[in-house]
Amino acid sequence: MKAFGYAAHSATSPLVPFHFERRDPRADDVTIDILYCGVCHSDLHQARNDWANSIYPMVPGHEIIGRVVAVGPSVTRFKVGDHAGVGCMVDSCLTCEACEEGEEQYCRCFPIFTYNALDREGAPTYGGYSDRIVVKERFVVKIPDGLDLAGAAPLLCAGITTWSPLRHWNVNDKSKVAVVGLGGLGHMAIKLAKALGAHVTLFTRSPGKSDDARRLGADDIILSTDADQMATVGGRFDLIIDTVPYAHDLNPYLPTLAINGTIVLVGYLGPLEPPVDSVPLIMGRKSVAGSLIGGIAETQALFDFCGKHGVVSDIEVIKMRDINEAYERLLKADVKYRFVIDMASLKE
Ligand code: NAP
Ligand code: ZN
Repeated sequence: MKAFGYAAHSATSPLVPFHFERRDPRADDVTIDILYCGVCHSDLHQARNDWANSIYPMVPGHEIIGRVVAVGPSVTRFKVGDHAGVGCMVDSCLTCEACEEGEEQYCRCFPIFTYNALDREGAPTYGGYSDRIVVKERFVVKIPDGLDLAGAAPLLCAGITTWSPLRHWNVNDKSKVAVVGLGGLGHMAIKLAKALGAHVTLFTRSPGKSDDARRLGADDIILSTDADQMATVGGRFDLIIDTVPYAHDLNPYLPTLAINGTIVLVGYLGPLEPPVDSVPLIMGRKSVAGSLIGGIAETQALFDFCGKHGVVSDIEVIKMRDINEAYERLLKADVKYRFVIDMASLKE
């Protein structure tokens, strides 16, 4: 099947228009015309080969919302005309313990990511900065009626990546949660933690973000570069979700964890620098953890929750041709709080 999108051809070249082939749909496939695709900082990391595993040409995009235009004969949950979502994964082994438990993101054989990956046949996967996608039904989520489609796109990565740890660590109306970094993931973490009833604090290095953070639901805002402000929240948090994309010092955050508290890293991938001091961990049975996106059933549960509570992302809709400028702005943390590409602009 012919497809059209925008691709990166190397770590240093801008994204440009790109014609490519997608597989012809199989019996269990859903074919989706893409309406909106969110722009994740992971797209930028991978387009620029920050993780040293990039496959070019690369069509990024894993926050995909569209309309179903065809279904294979064994598809049961979707019909033509339905709205559908595709996140970071399009396949996994489906037989290991993790897959059987609905945690396909931790598939023992490794999940097949929506782009920058090879499918079971060894063909490259291409993401959502494109007109159309063909995906196995098991990896497609239903969009509740009434949810704004563009605002819902970021739930497929920014949303589920913060929802999954909030659920795993049982956040509820008695919890004290903090979020490090107010970007795409950070603003969803605030909204979702608040919707679960938690008391929410934002740690930010940016003094100008307080009003926005309060509007998004933060109860307290702490400037992480100010030691006096950091000292006011000693021993407070049950869970800290750290969304910062680059290496940074975790040590100032450890004393702010309550006994048994956990700081879960979802942003930076790589060796922790400077080293983490074990003393505050041991002295308070505290944990440093990590978390990767979330499973498909969990993603559907998130959409159902957001449909019920009216939670979507705060977005800036952009045209496809403005993607390279959007990446530069993302690097400067100049986005409130997620870019979403309107795919109707693809051929402009
Ligand atoms: P983003 O929109 O660019 O937000 C990142 C935020 O981190 C910024 O707004 C900024 O907030 C803060 N920050 C602190 N130091 C920074 C620095 N040196 N450069 C840039 N920002 C800095 O990014 P995102 O889309 O939320 O993604 C965050 C990270 O999560 C990325 O590394 C992405 O690859 C990763 N990710 C992981 C998963 C997973 O499954 N674990 C899934 C999706 C994304 P303040 O100004 O408030 O400090
Ligand atoms: Zn993402």
